[in-house]
Amino acid sequence: MSESMDHQSERIDLAAAFRWLARLDMHESVANHLSVAVSADGTKFLINPRGRHFRRVCASQLLLLDARDRATLKRPDAPDPTAWYLHAQLHASLPQARCVMHVHSCYATALACLQDSTMYPIDMNTARFFNRVALDGEFAGMALSDDEGARVARLMSHGKSILLMANHGVLVTGKSVAAAFDELYYFERAAQTLLTCYSTGKPLRILPDSVAALTERQWRDYGQLALDHLDSIKAILDEEEPSYRR
Ligand SMILES: [Zn+2]
Repeated sequence: MSESMDHQSERIDLAAAFRWLARLDMHESVANHLSVAVSADGTKFLINPRGRHFRRVCASQLLLLDARDRATLKRPDAPDPTAWYLHAQLHASLPQARCVMHVHSCYATALACLQDSTMYPIDMNTARFFNRVALDGEFAGMALSDDEGARVARLMSHGKSILLMANHGVLVTGKSVAAAFDELYYFERAAQTLLTCYSTGKPLRILPDSVAALTERQWRDYGQLALDHLDSIKAILDEEEPSYRR
Protein backbone atom coordinates (compact mmCIF):
# COMPACT_ATOMS: atom_id res chain seq x y z
CA MET A 1 0.00 0.00 0.00
CA SER A 2 1.40 3.35 -0.97
CA GLU A 3 1.77 5.82 1.86
CA SER A 4 1.79 9.55 1.47
CA MET A 5 1.33 12.70 3.48
CA ASP A 6 0.14 14.96 0.64
CA HIS A 7 -2.94 16.83 1.84
CA GLN A 8 -1.75 16.38 5.39
CA SER A 9 -4.40 18.36 7.24
CA GLU A 10 -7.28 16.62 5.44
CA ARG A 11 -5.64 13.24 6.13
CA ILE A 12 -5.23 13.95 9.83
CA ASP A 13 -8.77 15.29 10.25
CA LEU A 14 -10.28 12.33 8.41
CA ALA A 15 -8.18 9.81 10.37
CA ALA A 16 -9.37 11.44 13.62
CA ALA A 17 -12.99 11.10 12.46
CA PHE A 18 -12.47 7.38 11.76
CA ARG A 19 -10.94 6.80 15.19
CA TRP A 20 -13.70 8.69 16.99
CA LEU A 21 -16.58 7.05 15.11
CA ALA A 22 -15.11 3.70 16.22
CA ARG A 23 -15.12 4.90 19.83
CA LEU A 24 -18.76 5.93 19.43
CA ASP A 25 -19.55 2.47 17.98
CA MET A 26 -20.87 4.13 14.83
CA HIS A 27 -18.66 1.96 12.60
CA GLU A 28 -19.61 -1.52 11.39
CA SER A 29 -17.06 -4.32 11.02
CA VAL A 30 -14.52 -3.07 8.44
CA ALA A 31 -17.24 -1.64 6.20
CA ASN A 32 -18.55 1.93 5.82
CA HIS A 33 -16.60 4.82 4.37
CA LEU A 34 -15.57 8.43 4.84
CA SER A 35 -13.99 10.55 2.12
CA VAL A 36 -12.80 14.11 1.57
CA ALA A 37 -12.21 15.92 -1.72
CA VAL A 38 -8.76 17.44 -2.22
CA SER A 39 -9.23 19.02 -5.68
CA ALA A 40 -11.50 21.96 -6.49
CA ASP A 41 -13.61 19.90 -8.91
CA GLY A 42 -14.05 17.10 -6.36
CA THR A 43 -12.59 14.41 -8.62
CA LYS A 44 -9.58 13.75 -6.39
CA PHE A 45 -10.44 12.51 -2.93
CA LEU A 46 -9.10 10.61 0.06
CA ILE A 47 -10.94 7.52 1.36
CA ASN A 48 -10.31 4.63 3.75
CA PRO A 49 -8.42 1.59 2.49
CA ARG A 50 -10.37 -1.63 2.03
CA GLY A 51 -10.71 -3.98 4.98
CA ARG A 52 -9.20 -1.68 7.60
CA HIS A 53 -11.02 -1.23 10.90
CA PHE A 54 -11.86 2.39 11.70
CA ARG A 55 -9.77 2.05 14.88
CA ARG A 56 -6.67 1.30 12.81
CA VAL A 57 -6.96 4.02 10.18
CA CYS A 58 -3.86 6.24 9.94
CA ALA A 59 -3.49 9.48 7.98
CA SER A 60 -0.81 8.21 5.60
CA GLN A 61 -2.78 5.09 4.64
CA LEU A 62 -5.83 6.89 3.29
CA LEU A 63 -6.13 6.22 -0.45
CA LEU A 64 -5.87 9.17 -2.83
CA LEU A 65 -8.23 8.33 -5.70
CA ASP A 66 -9.31 10.00 -8.94
CA ALA A 67 -13.02 9.67 -9.80
CA ARG A 68 -12.10 9.73 -13.53
CA ASP A 69 -9.72 6.77 -13.28
CA ARG A 70 -11.81 3.85 -14.46
CA ALA A 71 -9.07 1.35 -13.59
CA THR A 72 -9.30 2.18 -9.87
CA LEU A 73 -10.96 -1.09 -8.89
CA LYS A 74 -8.15 -3.03 -10.63
CA ARG A 75 -5.46 -1.45 -8.43
CA PRO A 76 -3.72 -3.84 -6.02
CA ASP A 77 -4.86 -1.54 -3.21
CA ALA A 78 -8.35 -1.03 -4.68
CA PRO A 79 -10.94 0.45 -2.33
CA ASP A 80 -14.09 -1.41 -1.33
CA PRO A 81 -16.31 -1.44 -4.47
CA THR A 82 -19.36 -0.06 -2.65
CA ALA A 83 -17.18 2.83 -1.40
CA TRP A 84 -15.93 3.55 -4.91
CA TYR A 85 -19.32 3.45 -6.60
CA LEU A 86 -20.91 5.72 -4.01
CA HIS A 87 -18.18 8.27 -3.28
CA ALA A 88 -16.39 8.76 -6.63
CA GLN A 89 -19.34 10.01 -8.65
CA LEU A 90 -20.82 11.81 -5.67
CA HIS A 91 -17.64 13.88 -5.25
CA ALA A 92 -17.43 14.51 -9.00
CA SER A 93 -21.12 15.49 -9.22
CA LEU A 94 -21.23 17.60 -6.04
CA PRO A 95 -17.81 19.27 -5.72
CA GLN A 96 -19.17 21.63 -3.05
CA ALA A 97 -19.80 18.63 -0.80
CA ARG A 98 -16.17 18.41 0.25
CA CYS A 99 -16.53 15.63 2.79
CA VAL A 100 -18.85 12.60 2.52
CA MET A 101 -19.49 10.21 5.41
CA HIS A 102 -21.54 7.04 5.05
CA VAL A 103 -22.23 4.71 7.99
CA HIS A 104 -24.80 2.22 9.21
CA SER A 105 -24.89 3.62 12.74
CA CYS A 106 -27.53 2.07 14.98
CA TYR A 107 -30.07 4.84 15.52
CA ALA A 108 -29.87 6.49 12.10
CA THR A 109 -30.27 3.08 10.47
CA ALA A 110 -33.20 2.20 12.74
CA LEU A 111 -34.88 5.48 11.77
CA ALA A 112 -34.25 4.60 8.11
CA CYS A 113 -36.07 1.29 8.67
CA LEU A 114 -39.31 2.85 9.93
CA GLN A 115 -42.16 3.35 7.49
CA ASP A 116 -42.18 7.01 8.55
CA SER A 117 -38.49 8.02 8.69
CA THR A 118 -39.20 11.71 9.36
CA MET A 119 -36.82 13.35 11.81
CA TYR A 120 -39.56 15.13 13.78
CA PRO A 121 -38.35 18.30 15.50
CA ILE A 122 -38.80 17.49 19.19
CA ASP A 123 -35.63 18.99 20.72
CA MET A 124 -32.66 21.13 19.66
CA ASN A 125 -30.78 18.27 18.02
CA THR A 126 -33.71 16.95 15.98
CA ALA A 127 -34.65 20.54 14.99
CA ARG A 128 -31.13 21.02 13.59
CA PHE A 129 -32.20 18.78 10.71
CA PHE A 130 -35.58 20.40 10.03
CA ASN A 131 -36.19 20.31 6.24
CA ARG A 132 -32.58 19.27 5.66
CA VAL A 133 -32.92 15.52 5.22
CA ALA A 134 -33.44 13.88 1.84
CA LEU A 135 -34.88 10.37 1.83
CA ASP A 136 -33.66 7.67 -0.50
CA GLY A 137 -36.51 5.18 -0.60
CA GLU A 138 -34.99 3.03 -3.35
CA PHE A 139 -32.98 0.35 -1.57
CA ALA A 140 -32.29 -2.39 -4.09
CA GLY A 141 -29.47 -4.44 -2.58
CA MET A 142 -25.83 -3.38 -2.41
CA ALA A 143 -25.18 -0.59 -4.90
CA LEU A 144 -22.47 -1.82 -7.27
CA SER A 145 -22.82 0.39 -10.30
CA ASP A 146 -21.33 3.60 -11.65
CA ASP A 147 -24.77 5.21 -11.46
CA GLU A 148 -24.98 5.08 -7.68
CA GLY A 149 -23.01 8.24 -6.85
CA ALA A 150 -24.79 10.28 -9.53
CA ARG A 151 -28.18 8.98 -8.35
CA VAL A 152 -27.39 9.98 -4.77
CA ALA A 153 -26.09 13.38 -5.94
CA ARG A 154 -29.45 14.04 -7.65
CA LEU A 155 -31.30 13.23 -4.43
CA MET A 156 -29.14 15.74 -2.56
CA SER A 157 -29.28 18.50 -5.16
CA HIS A 158 -31.79 20.75 -3.39
CA GLY A 159 -29.50 21.98 -0.65
CA LYS A 160 -29.95 18.83 1.40
CA SER A 161 -26.81 17.75 3.23
CA ILE A 162 -28.12 14.56 4.81
CA LEU A 163 -29.44 11.54 2.98
CA LEU A 164 -31.35 9.00 5.03
CA MET A 165 -31.09 5.79 3.03
CA ALA A 166 -34.18 3.68 3.68
CA ASN A 167 -33.46 0.10 4.80
CA HIS A 168 -29.74 0.93 4.75
CA GLY A 169 -28.11 3.78 6.74
CA VAL A 170 -27.20 7.44 6.48
CA LEU A 171 -24.93 9.66 4.38
CA VAL A 172 -23.90 13.19 5.28
CA THR A 173 -21.94 15.81 3.40
CA GLY A 174 -20.09 18.85 4.75
CA LYS A 175 -17.83 21.65 3.61
CA SER A 176 -15.01 20.14 5.70
CA VAL A 177 -14.22 16.98 7.66
CA ALA A 178 -15.13 18.83 10.86
CA ALA A 179 -18.49 19.95 9.47
CA ALA A 180 -19.46 16.51 8.14
CA PHE A 181 -18.33 14.76 11.31
CA ASP A 182 -20.33 17.14 13.51
CA GLU A 183 -23.37 16.66 11.30
CA LEU A 184 -23.13 12.87 11.53
CA TYR A 185 -22.58 12.97 15.28
CA TYR A 186 -25.65 15.14 15.86
CA PHE A 187 -27.81 13.18 13.43
CA GLU A 188 -27.12 9.99 15.36
CA ARG A 189 -27.85 11.74 18.67
CA ALA A 190 -31.09 13.18 17.26
CA ALA A 191 -32.19 9.77 15.95
CA GLN A 192 -31.39 8.24 19.35
CA THR A 193 -33.63 10.77 21.10
CA LEU A 194 -36.48 10.31 18.63
CA LEU A 195 -36.34 6.50 18.83
CA THR A 196 -36.12 6.61 22.62
CA CYS A 197 -39.32 8.67 22.58
CA TYR A 198 -40.97 6.17 20.23
CA SER A 199 -40.00 3.34 22.55
CA THR A 200 -42.16 4.82 25.32
CA GLY A 201 -45.26 4.52 23.16
CA LYS A 202 -46.31 8.03 24.28
CA PRO A 203 -47.18 10.77 21.75
CA LEU A 204 -44.39 13.09 20.61
CA ARG A 205 -44.35 16.75 21.62
CA ILE A 206 -43.54 18.10 18.14
CA LEU A 207 -42.28 21.69 17.87
CA PRO A 208 -44.17 24.17 15.65
CA ASP A 209 -42.58 24.60 12.20
CA SER A 210 -41.63 28.22 12.99
CA VAL A 211 -39.65 27.20 16.09
CA ALA A 212 -38.04 24.26 14.30
CA ALA A 213 -37.01 26.53 11.39
CA LEU A 214 -35.58 29.13 13.78
CA THR A 215 -33.59 26.49 15.66
CA GLU A 216 -32.25 25.08 12.39
CA ARG A 217 -31.05 28.57 11.37
CA GLN A 218 -29.46 29.11 14.76
CA TRP A 219 -27.49 25.87 14.37
CA ARG A 220 -26.09 27.13 11.06
CA ASP A 221 -24.76 30.23 12.81
CA TYR A 222 -22.87 27.94 15.19
CA GLY A 223 -20.29 26.74 12.65
CA GLN A 224 -17.44 27.22 15.10
CA LEU A 225 -18.88 24.39 17.22
CA ALA A 226 -17.97 21.81 14.58
CA LEU A 227 -14.37 23.07 14.42
CA ASP A 228 -14.05 23.06 18.20
CA HIS A 229 -15.59 19.58 18.33
CA LEU A 230 -13.00 18.03 16.00
CA ASP A 231 -10.15 19.99 17.61
CA SER A 232 -11.10 18.58 21.00
CA ILE A 233 -11.29 15.07 19.60
CA LYS A 234 -7.81 15.44 18.07
CA ALA A 235 -6.47 16.69 21.41
CA ILE A 236 -7.82 13.59 23.17
CA LEU A 237 -6.47 11.30 20.44
CA ASP A 238 -3.08 13.05 20.63
CA GLU A 239 -2.92 12.00 24.27
CA GLU A 240 -4.43 8.56 24.01
CA GLU A 241 -3.81 7.17 20.49
CA PRO A 242 -1.53 9.52 18.53
CA SER A 243 -0.90 6.84 15.88
CA TYR A 244 -3.85 8.24 13.86
CA ARG A 245 -1.52 11.05 12.72
CA ARG A 246 1.06 8.68 11.22
ZN1 LIG B 1 -23.86 1.31 3.28
